Amino acid sequence: MIYDEKIWLKQYDQGVPATLKYPKVPLFTFLEESASKYPHNRALSYLGNDISYSKLDRLVNKAANALTDLGVQKGDRVALYLANTPQFIIMLYSILKIGAIAVPINPLFKSAEVAFELNDSGAKTVIVMSRFYPIIQQIKEETMLKNIIVTNVKDYFPFLTKILFTLLKEKEDRVRIDDTDHWLEKLMQQSNDKKPDIGIDPEDIALLQYTSGTTGTPKGVMLSHYNLVVNALQCRAWVTDTVEGQERVLGWLPFFHSFGMTACLSYTMSCAGTLILTPNPRDLSYILKTMEKEKITIMPGVPTMYAALGSYKSVAKYDLSSVRACICGGAPLIESVQKRFVEVTGSKLVEGYGLSEASPVTHANPMNAPNKPNSIGVPMPDTECRIVDIENGKDEIEVGKEGELIIKGPQLMKGYWMQPEMTDEAIREGWLHTGDIVKMDEEGYFYVVDRKKDIIIVKGLNVSPTEVEKVCCTHPKVEDAAVVGIPHEYKGEEIKAFIVLKEGEAAEAYEIIEYLRKKLARFKVPSSVEFVDELPKNVMGKLMRRLLREREMKKNTGL
Ligand code: AMP
Repeated sequence: MIYDEKIWLKQYDQGVPATLKYPKVPLFTFLEESASKYPHNRALSYLGNDISYSKLDRLVNKAANALTDLGVQKGDRVALYLANTPQFIIMLYSILKIGAIAVPINPLFKSAEVAFELNDSGAKTVIVMSRFYPIIQQIKEETMLKNIIVTNVKDYFPFLTKILFTLLKEKEDRVRIDDTDHWLEKLMQQSNDKKPDIGIDPEDIALLQYTSGTTGTPKGVMLSHYNLVVNALQCRAWVTDTVEGQERVLGWLPFFHSFGMTACLSYTMSCAGTLILTPNPRDLSYILKTMEKEKITIMPGVPTMYAALGSYKSVAKYDLSSVRACICGGAPLIESVQKRFVEVTGSKLVEGYGLSEASPVTHANPMNAPNKPNSIGVPMPDTECRIVDIENGKDEIEVGKEGELIIKGPQLMKGYWMQPEMTDEAIREGWLHTGDIVKMDEEGYFYVVDRKKDIIIVKGLNVSPTEVEKVCCTHPKVEDAAVVGIPHEYKGEEIKAFIVLKEGEAAEAYEIIEYLRKKLARFKVPSSVEFVDELPKNVMGKLMRRLLREREMKKNTGL
């Protein structure tokens, strides 16, 4: 296997390997090596249907050849508009095997959001699950799409073994696709399972991961094969007691996000484990039953997930004792949530930290050394960190004081897709400026204390206030808008919109919210709206969201 345990064990220090050796290979090498070493091990399980490593690798090759037959070439961007399904994984790896670039799209997105990412990435091919096909039909004229590949995924429908090779007629009847579009299952029936012979440089871009970054509307983070291999191995080294060929990982995190991509997909493939998919992320009783039945060992997640499971009414009736390692990231983990989850499962739940620009993981509390509550832990192997002055981004801050976290390491992105200026702003002299305000204690543990950047994080998903404000301003009655995140115990943050109406207009909050619901994914829609006469702006006309946020927090705490 490309992961060499002996190398890092030598440098092992207090549960934290300082450095690792990273092979220069494409990301799909994890899958190929697991398929050759453990061909009969289960790679995936979806609604009781298992796919072995050898079968998964063959399906990936078939899908890769099907894409090539359609004319998809190295460097082309191919969008994945799919929920967490076996097709997501098959198509992701098939895209990578032909050297194309995967563009995962949040399946909760509405048409304008999908069109934006398709156009920004210049994707000419999309793989879409049949449920979302009408959205693609609606926007295809305004995009560059040439190949629309539809796949039959029904919630709770046992997909793979039956469907891939025997086309179900009734399903085709249910969803009608245009003559110019393709069924994935049909394409795969016609293609062969030989490994594509395309030279891939590990430094080639593998993924465009859309994120808000530190400011502005979403942009595509360019992550190379190497970046992703590195971060998977950094995470693997973190779970110090990983047993090759035996881990069962809960695939609850969304795969379109870099955390799900690395902590669920890449980690599992790197140790020939089994990834157990959860078809409906909201069905807690199904998830708990699955965790018990599958004897899940590793569960990466965001705080909202641990809060939901820990407080689920009948959680105590499930035997979750197999769960060994839970890595929580994306947003602050509240101590009471952590305690409750640990009480219920007896597992270890450690907080970590990362961002899409770093593939994403950069910090975590060690698995077998003391954990510190409210801390994001210590840096990953080979990850250098500095804390610098918030204003000038340069002067080093002394231990214990707050400043902006800047990071250097082999998992850092190549830059933002087609945004050289924003890339230069984010990465200066090799250091990624995270926009997060942190402090470090004497023992080298980091704590996130605030955010300098303009993003809101709802249930671990990042939201660009600028994007939401722009959509608010398309409402015919709205003159101006500001959107801020207010701390929320369960969601991490919830969104509040401050709206200035056009002169002579009157509106109710629900009108604005209803309007936004049609245009934006649910998690981006404000929970409340306040109408104001004007918004706080500085002399340059820059919106001072921080003032609104502070005002709101004072109001809520009564201080
Ligand atoms: P994303 O690019 O969507 O992964 O979002 C990354 C951002 O999430 C980081 O820059 C932080 O602002 C935030 N974040 C991630 N992990 C944590 C954490 N453990 N505590 C606080 N904020 C976090």
